[in-house]
Amino acid sequence: MELARGMRKSIYGSDVYIRGLIEFSSYCRCDCYYCGLRRSNPDAQRYRLDKDDILVCCDEGYELGFRTFVMQSGEDMYFSAEKIADIVFSIKNAYPDCAVTLSVGERPRETYALWRSAGADRYLLRHETASRSHYGRLHPKEQLFDDRMRCLYDLKEIGFQTGCGFMVGSPYQTVQDMAGDLVFISDFSPDMVGIGPFIPHNATPFCEMESGSVRTTLMLLSIIRLMLPDVLLPATTALGTLDPHGREKGILAGANVLMPNLSPSNVRKKYLLYDNKICTGDEAAECISCMKGRMERIGYRIVTDRGDKKNRK
Ligand code: SAH
Ligand code: SF4
Repeated sequence: MELARGMRKSIYGSDVYIRGLIEFSSYCRCDCYYCGLRRSNPDAQRYRLDKDDILVCCDEGYELGFRTFVMQSGEDMYFSAEKIADIVFSIKNAYPDCAVTLSVGERPRETYALWRSAGADRYLLRHETASRSHYGRLHPKEQLFDDRMRCLYDLKEIGFQTGCGFMVGSPYQTVQDMAGDLVFISDFSPDMVGIGPFIPHNATPFCEMESGSVRTTLMLLSIIRLMLPDVLLPATTALGTLDPHGREKGILAGANVLMPNLSPSNVRKKYLLYDNKICTGDEAAECISCMKGRMERIGYRIVTDRGDKKNRK
C-alpha cells in the first residue's frame, strides 16, 4: 500500500479529483441479482429527473467546484438515445469547461457514438466480473457477458475515456476470479477503474450474502494503482458505507477520485443499489465540506479541476 500511495503521489501529488454524481433515474430494465434497483424489486421507489432538474444539479455543483458531472441511472429506456444526447449537449453548452461522464449501462454502438458526438467525455461501465461463468451467476440468462464486453470495447474505440470495474466479494467470487479481473483490467487498460465492496440489498436474491471485505478492496486498489500508474481510481461510496473511514483509507491505498452525490436530496433515498448507503440525507454542500475536511485531515486536498488522466493533458 505504501508503494501504491507513493506511485499515486508521484503522478497526482496530494490532489483529489471530485465528480458530481447525478442519479437521474431509478428505473431499470435489467435484473442483476445483486442490485436494489433491479426490475424485479417491487419495493424499489422509482423516479426520474428531467433535464431542468439535472441542469439545476449541475449549476449547484459548478458553484461548489465540480468540473465533472457523472450522469448515472438504471437502464431506463424512457431516456432514449436522443434525450440523453440532448441533456449531454445542454450540460456541455452551459459548462464548456466541464467533463460529462455517462454511466447508464448497455446500449448499441451507434447510441454510444451519438453521445460521444454530443460531447460526452467519459463512460463508466463496470465489467462486474471477467469470468463468463461467474457473470452468469450474477445475472439472469438474458444479460450476456459478451454484450457487456462488446459495449466496453465499443466505448473505447469510439473515443470515450472508459472505465470498467467490479464488486469485491460479490457472491461466488473466487480468488481466481479476482486474479482474472486484474488480468482483464491490465489487458483492457481503461482510463478509470471503479471497484467497491459488494453490499447486500434486502430485497434481492443476494440478501443473505455477506458483504465484501474492506481490506481486500484496499489491497486491490493498491494493486490497480501499481498496474496502471496514472489510472483514475475512485474511493467509492460503498467503501465509505462499510467503514466510516473507508474513503480516506481508499485514498491512502492509492485512489485519487471521490464521487460525492449531487442528486437532489428528495430522491437520494430512492437510489439504493445496496443497504445502508451513506450520505442519503445530506445536501450537496454538506457532502463537499465533509469530504474537504476528511481529505485535509489525511493530508490531501480536493481540487477544482476536470481531473483528466495526467498523461492526456
Ligand atoms: N445501471 C448502470 C449504472 C448504475 S449501477 C450499470 O449497471 O452500469 C452502478 C454499479 O453499482 C454497478 O456496476 C455495480 O457494480 C454497483 N452495484 C450494484 N449493486 C451493488 C451492490 N449490492 N453492492 C455494491 N455495488 C453494487
Ligand atoms: Fe440496473 Fe445497474 Fe442495478 Fe443492474 S446494476 S439492476 S443495470 S441499476
